Amino acid sequence: MGKYFGTSGIRGKVGEFLTPELALRAGRALGEYLGGGRVAVGRDTRVHGDAIASAVIAGLLSQGCEVVDVGVVCTPTLGCYVSEEGLDAGVMVTASHNPPEYNGIKFWNSDGMAFTPDQEREIEEIMDGEPEYPDWREFKGVTREEGAPEVHVERILREVEADGEGLRVVVDCANGPSSLVTPTVLREMGCEVITINAHLDGHFPGRHPEPRPEHLRELMRTVRSVDADLGIAHDGDADRVVFVTEEGEFAGYDEVLALVCRRILEEKGAGKVAVNVDASMVVDEVVRELGGEVVRTKVGDVYVAEAIKREGCVFGGEPNGTWIHPDAHMCPDGPLSAAWMVSLLAEEGRPLSELLEEVPRYPTLRENVECPDELKPKVMECVERRVRENYDEIDTVDGVRVELEDGWALIRPSGTEPVVRVTVEAESEERARELRDEFVSLVEECLRGVRG
Ligand code: MG
Repeated sequence: MGKYFGTSGIRGKVGEFLTPELALRAGRALGEYLGGGRVAVGRDTRVHGDAIASAVIAGLLSQGCEVVDVGVVCTPTLGCYVSEEGLDAGVMVTASHNPPEYNGIKFWNSDGMAFTPDQEREIEEIMDGEPEYPDWREFKGVTREEGAPEVHVERILREVEADGEGLRVVVDCANGPSSLVTPTVLREMGCEVITINAHLDGHFPGRHPEPRPEHLRELMRTVRSVDADLGIAHDGDADRVVFVTEEGEFAGYDEVLALVCRRILEEKGAGKVAVNVDASMVVDEVVRELGGEVVRTKVGDVYVAEAIKREGCVFGGEPNGTWIHPDAHMCPDGPLSAAWMVSLLAEEGRPLSELLEEVPRYPTLRENVECPDELKPKVMECVERRVRENYDEIDTVDGVRVELEDGWALIRPSGTEPVVRVTVEAESEERARELRDEFVSLVEECLRGVRG
């Protein structure tokens, strides 16, 4: 975590942490980092989007950048637009799934990939430095572009060809910009589309912008009442997607991820897929069965994107529904992922609940151990040492992940709360409880040791 950038760009309550002044400095720093060039700026539906985006734009212009203002768009629309139109970078003003009083700023590279933590550190240094301005002749202007959602829709339709004829789909857009893309894509694919929360409104009157099962009751009810084949829900900026089965049940995050990995590997022959350390072992099973390989990454879509590039993966994703399809662009794309799921259903010709039954499901348990932030590094050092004494297969890409014959455990300090999280998954409920108890005790012992 940097001074301004957190786990997903600059993010905070507007008027407190995130002010137009900070946005101006961020925009100026990006302009200086790029040394000019063409930059697209988009925003989600939040009421302060214009205030923050205007400040970012002023900062970019002050460094001689040319700005393309794409208005209210999905984060993946911005990423796709930057990559398709050959711009030098993109800026998205969004707070994703956070409540309406939040907003944020996230930077994107020319291929649609999020700025890496290293790039963000550089931006922070420039933000804190003394500004320099170009000669007056080098200032450029802003072009408004309303066609970015169309560019995105077309890109998705080039990527996903299957016919959705005969499928009835309900899409819950969370009053966010996904309403500009997903319903159009699905109709173009031949689906019958019913939308809810599909008008743009930064107050999020329909539901909370985080697509958790408890926020999706209306979607579940609607799927049942109109007898739909699938329910689709996005978060506030549509880099994520989650699904509801034809029975109106929330489709498990990991099972869905495994299904999609399976389909992509079937299509590509074989290859590597990138998933974070928190993803279920069902992904490993499905991928291994098809001769593929799983690359584990830190939690966060930018790490998945980095791994895709480094390892040449054919796909990458996190269980929360941020999936990256590198053939299209490097930004997690909820509408594209929704289209993928529809094409999967269309080609399989079977309901989602039935497909999910083919994916094994294992009990997962999570527990938090309270731990002050300043003790976390020492506690994790101790955990790693102790785990190495007892186990052979250990991955320390993010926290400590222990691979076992019949499951795994992940011990990872939270980036936002004073807790160390213990996650375990095993083939049986009993074994999962055993593992949880073992690793929770280990963290507690280490904490006692560190405290002395
Ligand atoms: Mg998001």
